Amino acid sequence: MKVTCPTCGDQEVSPGDVLARVCVDTHASEYHFTCNFCDATVVKTCTQQILEALSSLKVKVDFWTIPRVGPRVHIGADITDSDVLDFREGLNDEERFEQALSDLAW
Ligand SMILES: [Zn+2]
Repeated sequence: MKVTCPTCGDQEVSPGDVLARVCVDTHASEYHFTCNFCDATVVKTCTQQILEALSSLKVKVDFWTIPRVGPRVHIGADITDSDVLDFREGLNDEERFEQALSDLAW
């Protein structure tokens, strides 16, 4: 099959040397191959039609999903109403506010 390296131009590679992958979440498709001349890995995004054409040429197609970020782990006591009130008071207290800001500074 014909592929194109942005540096070296058109060339023939065996479909077995091309790998396609599809993101299950976004349906974004791409394929990649190693250039015969400069050895670079060339990645091309492609349409569904091209993907089907690649697949019919026996290019291996991988499916992948975007990794889910696990639940946030909260360490420490739960925030209570009095913490919120204290925080609001703190915002009105210039001195405490300045102190809190300087505590944040590296
Ligand atoms: Zn090349």
